Amino acid sequence: MKWDVVIGLEVHVQLNTKTKAFCACSTQYGAEPNTQVCPVCLGYPGALPVLNEELVRSAVAAGIATHSKIRTKSQFSRKNYFYPDLPKGYQISQYDDPICYDGYVEIENEGKKKKIGLIRIHMEEDSGKSLHSESGTLIDLNRSGVPLLEIVSQPEIHSPQEAYAYLTTIKQRLRYTGISNCNMEEGSLRCDANISLKPAGSPAFGTRTELKNLNSFRNVERALTFEINRQKELLESGGTITQATLLWDEQKQETRQMRGKEESHDYRYFPEPDLPPVLITEDFIQNLRMQLPEMPDLRKERFIDKYDMLEDDAAVLTNEKEIADYFENLVKLFPNNVKLARHWVQGEILRILKEQNLSAGQIPIKASHLAELLQFVDRQDITPQTGKAVLDEMCATGKSAAIIIDEKALMKIADSGELSTIIDKIIQNSPKESARYRSGKIQLLAYFIGQVMKATKGQADQGITRKLLIEKLGPVTEG
Ligand code: ADP
Ligand code: MG
Ligand code: ZN
Repeated sequence: MKWDVVIGLEVHVQLNTKTKAFCACSTQYGAEPNTQVCPVCLGYPGALPVLNEELVRSAVAAGIATHSKIRTKSQFSRKNYFYPDLPKGYQISQYDDPICYDGYVEIENEGKKKKIGLIRIHMEEDSGKSLHSESGTLIDLNRSGVPLLEIVSQPEIHSPQEAYAYLTTIKQRLRYTGISNCNMEEGSLRCDANISLKPAGSPAFGTRTELKNLNSFRNVERALTFEINRQKELLESGGTITQATLLWDEQKQETRQMRGKEESHDYRYFPEPDLPPVLITEDFIQNLRMQLPEMPDLRKERFIDKYDMLEDDAAVLTNEKEIADYFENLVKLFPNNVKLARHWVQGEILRILKEQNLSAGQIPIKASHLAELLQFVDRQDITPQTGKAVLDEMCATGKSAAIIIDEKALMKIADSGELSTIIDKIIQNSPKESARYRSGKIQLLAYFIGQVMKATKGQADQGITRKLLIEKLGPVTEG
């Protein structure tokens, strides 16, 4: 039987505000357990929450980045449930009237572009963390009250690959806004995946399961693939799907049931009485819109036009905002040869980041320093090969290109006097090869060029070397 796959994703993004959502406690990661807490985030009776304006700003930024509609009046609600790491017994979240709704992002999968709708983006607070060990469970409430956005997609994703593309797009756009680094491995982006099957073409949705514990985009893809097959086999053997929350087991590469899925009425949502409605003005939204950077899709298009590059190259350069910024900075400082600049950022800078396991924001060479190096390469004062070695040296020592080139005497040898001496010596030391060359074995020219390059550590000018060699080896008599 043919089935349609229906997937909707709920993405939680941890925001990089300095302080928590409703108190002034620090959100700094990695502190000693329970050192960044106060009566508000510990849930002491009578402690009152105060809304962090940065949370609202981040939510609106996310809304703008996802073409969402933004409510000038929204409200917080209490989501009630018991869990040891939730000291208040409820989470402050949004239910009715979330701050953003009705957005979309455009994804690209297998060369096809497609819009995926967003039902809503709402603000909420994180819970604490339970630390399980053999001697028992400990609770760290440093994370309690850290601000989150929940981004809920329409059930418009139709394959695990589209889910992967959707997550990549959301991450890229949010990282551009700067509200979060969206690192799934570090937990600043978490994703739950809802999935159901229905007979192909049928208008009614099937019963869904919700997958949790997905700690990388690849795992989302794998877990969905597994779950599609599980549901398919069950349905085709006459079984039914029970709505449930399933955990992805990375070791076993399978899903298993965690609990029956709760319905929203289980949470007894009601408006948060301790916080007034969130009121924002159109001006606030407009100002933020102006402050936000150009989004990656538009930036990619602009790169293609302005710098005359292929779509694939523009995509690589605009994938991360910091790389795109770096490239544009470099081109400003070194406008002579945009193609060369692109080549070096794409090839060398990305290579260095990968080798040194650095993020895009940690490029170890200033754009101005690379610009200086590229002047040498562009003038052909040094060979590209030498340039790459100089770049590595710049990374290691922090020295400028000019200093390294000078210290190591790396300038290309284009002085024919100097080359002449070197070549004379080589010819003198290779009498057999010289004789064979003169008797018609002209392929040996390559051997001599190789010798010159070896003697000059690759710094001899190819053209001049060739010319001098032909001159000095003398006429060839055909045998
Ligand atoms: P909940 O309150 O259980 O989180 P929501 O209505 O907020 O449920 O939907 C959560 C997610 O589930 C959304 O991303 C939505 O697109 C998706 N979803 C809803 N129905 C289905 C379905 N039948 N199959 C797959 N996904 C679905
Ligand atoms: Mg939900
Ligand atoms: Zn606090």
